[in-house]
Amino acid sequence: MSGVWVWIEHREQQFAAISLEALGVARKAAEALGAPVTALVFGDGVEDAAASAFEYGAERVLGCDDETFASFRVEAAGPLVAALAAEREPDVLLLGASTNGRDLAAWVAATLDAGLAADGIDLKVAGGKLLLTRPVYAGKLLSDVHVKEGLQIITLRSRAFPAADATGGRGEPEWVAPLVAEDELKTKVVSFESSVGVVSLTDARIIASGGRGVGGPEGFEPIRELADVLGGALGASRATVDAGWIPYDHQVGQTGKTVSPDLYIASGISGAIQHQAGMRTSKVIVAINKDPDAPIFGLAHYGIVGDLFKVVPALTAEFKARLGK
Ligand SMILES: Cc1cc2nc3c(=O)[nH]c(=O)nc-3n(C[C@H](O)[C@H](O)[C@H](O)COP(=O)(O)OP(=O)(O)OC[C@H]3O[C@@H](n4cnc5c(N)ncnc54)[C@H](O)[C@@H]3O)c2cc1C
Repeated sequence: MSGVWVWIEHREQQFAAISLEALGVARKAAEALGAPVTALVFGDGVEDAAASAFEYGAERVLGCDDETFASFRVEAAGPLVAALAAEREPDVLLLGASTNGRDLAAWVAATLDAGLAADGIDLKVAGGKLLLTRPVYAGKLLSDVHVKEGLQIITLRSRAFPAADATGGRGEPEWVAPLVAEDELKTKVVSFESSVGVVSLTDARIIASGGRGVGGPEGFEPIRELADVLGGALGASRATVDAGWIPYDHQVGQTGKTVSPDLYIASGISGAIQHQAGMRTSKVIVAINKDPDAPIFGLAHYGIVGDLFKVVPALTAEFKARLGK
């Protein structure tokens, strides 16, 4: 058995926040299991990222430095992770429940016929097994699950766990060769557009979201200003995305992003179960709605009954004054 493996997501050698969180979870799990932590670091030019994995507590690094990993493609990463896991038999494979992490977890689980416990918000170790707590029924209930035997593949929800602290660790990665050559891959990444300066929804500590109550694309402006003044991200309900008022990237909910910020401010959002599925694990929820019977008030920690076009600018002005912006 070769312990707890963590798949690292990074861009230009900077770790995704979820991978630091996964490393923190891995260290705790590995300590309880008495097993080492191994980081899987794949990319094109990844020496610094491999060094960071040691720095944040990995005891071993399995690295693959190859052009096929310049951007994530599951058909390149999947076969390599599955082959390494089949050969070396780790107890656990941890990944972020990001788009790529879910894709890769499913590939490896299907290839190895291994159990997959997805989208965890809490993790305990009991009897040599990891017990994962995950929201079910659109977040209305929490369920504890574990993988009965063999490799335990686990994905973790973003911002549900603290990030690993730097340990100052160092080491030499073990470099492995890719299994699939570039010309054998069926997909090609033609470009990558970076949303520089835009706070990512899944990493955001604060999210201000707008729903159909904003009335049109321009109605998002006060919500955007509130998000900006708080250094947060802009979210949206599906109704507004379907109406073409805002791009899909901003959608929160069952068919959008799952978020767990410290503060979620929902304006003009009724609080349909599918929207709640994406945001109900937020630590503090504030709802602004002119309908006192809107279901979102059943979930909110703080509710303001009123017109968002009056309430949101007033909040923004107050935050600006208090934050000296
Ligand atoms: C399979 C499936 C998947 C889905 N996935 C998602 C998903 O991922 N995310 C998602 O959000 N939805 C999803 N939905 C849609 C969901 O069911 C709702 O239709 C949607 O969330 C409603 O969006 P809304 O709250 O913006 O609009 P509405 O339900 O129309 O609510 C608008 C609210 O704005 C309030 N309002 C209006 N004017 C103002 C004002 N001036 N000031 C203050 N309040 C005002 C109203 O009182 C109302 O409560 C999904 C549905 C299905 C069937």
